[in-house]
Amino acid sequence: MRRLPCLALLACVAPALAADPVTLHCERLFDARAGRMLGAHTITVEDGRIRSVQPGRIAPADGGQAIDLPGRTCLPGWTDLHVHLGSQSGPQSYSEGFRLDPVDYAFRAVGYAGKTLRAGFTSVRDLGGEVAPHLRDAINQGLVEGPRIFAAGKSIATTGGHADPTNGWNSMLSHLVGPPGPTEGVINSVDDARQAVRQRYKDGSDVIKITATGGVLSYAKSGDAPQFTIDEIRAVVETAKDYGYTVAAHAHGEEGMRRAVVAGVTSIEHGTHMSDEVIRLMKQHGTWYVPTIYAGRFVADKAKEPGYFPEIVRPKAAAIGARIQETAGRAWKAGVKIAFGTDQGVGPHGDNAREFIYMVEAGIPAAYALQAATIHAASVLGVDDQGVLEAGKRADIIALPGDPVADINAVLGVDFVMKDGRVYAQP
Ligand SMILES: [Zn+2]
Repeated sequence: MRRLPCLALLACVAPALAADPVTLHCERLFDARAGRMLGAHTITVEDGRIRSVQPGRIAPADGGQAIDLPGRTCLPGWTDLHVHLGSQSGPQSYSEGFRLDPVDYAFRAVGYAGKTLRAGFTSVRDLGGEVAPHLRDAINQGLVEGPRIFAAGKSIATTGGHADPTNGWNSMLSHLVGPPGPTEGVINSVDDARQAVRQRYKDGSDVIKITATGGVLSYAKSGDAPQFTIDEIRAVVETAKDYGYTVAAHAHGEEGMRRAVVAGVTSIEHGTHMSDEVIRLMKQHGTWYVPTIYAGRFVADKAKEPGYFPEIVRPKAAAIGARIQETAGRAWKAGVKIAFGTDQGVGPHGDNAREFIYMVEAGIPAAYALQAATIHAASVLGVDDQGVLEAGKRADIIALPGDPVADINAVLGVDFVMKDGRVYAQP
């Protein structure tokens, strides 16, 4: 076993786990490309990449290191396409927005990132939050432990829209700060839209997020109303293309969703009031759907608790939250392409895998749900070096006792996590 370099306090406290080259003996292996479970396999890993995947149990050559994973299924490391590592909701969230400093959120994010990785999520797409691009860099530099992050940075909204950072502020505060503009991710024209995307490029974002309709947790009345003109969304999408960005669109209401799909966004997030017409358009445009059932169930549940949400948020949480799971099942049956996302940061970080169970409850087959978090997620991210266990791909490998295709509850038991060939958890 090679000792890991002691790069930061966190890394020094953690026991040094195996690093590659290494041979893994898996009792089962999930073929994400075909969406089926295979028997025993041997995976060899070197320099952060998968060198070979072979059926059966093959002893490592030249007496190299082997990790036995008896009774376990090996899968490609999962990707959660919708998280917010910079925060986690609670009854204090709204007042904390005024009291906490960015550095407080940054320290919290370090803890959330570690929990997410150890739950089997070797990649995440962080769809909104200024902490994420910095956390991404710290993780890539080996300073803290966490998943590979594809970061949106600040979400793009319109005035008063979901992700206008000044919603709910009193007039004195609003006067002091002034109206937010494209730099802060708030736009009101086609020109603003272009500027906001270019600002995200300058800030080091990897992907663009827009809030095409109202949202549940913002301090505003409507969760459904469209909040961009179709020309504004087109300007976002076209400018995003110049920088090689994909665009994720938060949307609950039908009209905002329709505009986003027609304007060419890559994915619809939440998709609560998805009509048959929107389903038809999504299939026509090849738009991905990231349901985030977890967030829907979580907010619907918390809406029952007096005082958890402000009163302006509570009815939205109850009405919107309860519908997402049914929409996910309907969209899957209709043939919409589905990829995995939780919106964690609404619910607790580290519990992301419960989304698989909710997807299966909605009528989505377990094998498809596992593809949604692996090969589909890679496709949404626009990367081809992860999401499958094949020679040449990144060595992002997780393992869990049991067979999650036979019993989806097995997803909660991840006890082996490797990212880029480095082991972060081992039974
Ligand atoms: Zn979100």
